[in-house]
Amino acid sequence: MNNSVVFPKSLLIPIKGFLQNELARLRKTKHSIEKSDPFMNSDRTVQNSVEEDVDEQIGHNETQAKAKFLSKQIVQFRKALARIKIGKYGVCERCGQMIDTDRLAVRPEITLCISCSKEMDD
Ligand SMILES: [Zn+2]
Repeated sequence: MNNSVVFPKSLLIPIKGFLQNELARLRKTKHSIEKSDPFMNSDRTVQNSVEEDVDEQIGHNETQAKAKFLSKQIVQFRKALARIKIGKYGVCERCGQMIDTDRLAVRPEITLCISCSKEMDD
């Protein structure tokens, strides 16, 4: 049995479009989050009160956490697009098994099957 053709092209085209749109959206969001970082604010007062410093630190940490999360997402979407390019979309990048199509329908950017993603979370 030939497993190389997993997804028909007619299905891959909308998936690819979705991934590209999401990727663009994620990049935009990340950019605006990074700009909202209080540490990036050039008008930032040097003579901060302690409370202001704390607020800025919290704001900065939140921004960093969000940006980190978005970076991960961006990598994931780029990976999924790369899988389409090499004709391996829907195949687990770790074990080579087919990824459950119900999971892909919910999260088209995933590149790991359910058992591998569970192992990776451990
Ligand atoms: Zn797997």
